Amino acid sequence: MAALASVLAPTGAASTALAAPAAHSIMQLSEPDALWLPTQPTSPVLATTAGPTATVKLAALTSPSYRFSSILDGQPVRWNPCQAIHWKANVARGPVGGLDVLKAAVAHVAYKTGTQWVFDGTTATVPNTAYLPKTPTNTNKPVVIGWTDGTASDLLRYKPAAVLGMTRTVWFGVDDGMGHRVAATRAAVVALDRTDRLPLRGVQSWSATALHELGHVMGLDHPADTHQLMASTLPNVSTLQTGDNTGLGRVGKAAGCVVIPGA
Ligand SMILES: [Zn+2]
Repeated sequence: MAALASVLAPTGAASTALAAPAAHSIMQLSEPDALWLPTQPTSPVLATTAGPTATVKLAALTSPSYRFSSILDGQPVRWNPCQAIHWKANVARGPVGGLDVLKAAVAHVAYKTGTQWVFDGTTATVPNTAYLPKTPTNTNKPVVIGWTDGTASDLLRYKPAAVLGMTRTVWFGVDDGMGHRVAATRAAVVALDRTDRLPLRGVQSWSATALHELGHVMGLDHPADTHQLMASTLPNVSTLQTGDNTGLGRVGKAAGCVVIPGA
């Protein structure tokens, strides 16, 4: 997945060692991933046979069933799971009952990752790129999840009708100038396409779509296994699958806190 990376101006302030390279801020805006509605009827989900477990590496960075959006120094970039994640919902243009679907999806992902999510209420803010912070000094913006369209949000602009949702995240961190980098996801927007008609819950629903997009918010990318909910085309399932949950576990509280030096 291509990603736009940029290095911000050095902060320099923390470094006093004469010969040491200056520490500087780093940041990256994720490339949004489209979630597609299948264009043809999907076949029933086949039972997958378990692979030889002896070859499974728990520390593997990627697997056919889950994948991370961004890897820095051998670790997936993720939120600091030891801090609450605040979020707001823009449901004015969504389906009736949409807010309950979003709340349930957030609660489910919070449970799977061991993270705490705090609902800050509904908002008229459109989930788009402009909302995301551009510097690490103003990153306390709640995640905005909501229904919008290609006229209001750049995330859905020029996208085919079969695209259900798009998520964009931004992470900020520090490069100590000596090859050590650490970063954390600090903001995200989730745009759900209000022009699509899906059931609220069940297979290929808004609930499944919200769970998929929240997987991106947490740092997951599309895996190769098309039966996982994180697959780029919405599979015929209603909730997170085994690989999705494994990936979420690896970006959650069980993986420890993320501490950015000087942040
Ligand atoms: Zn996706």
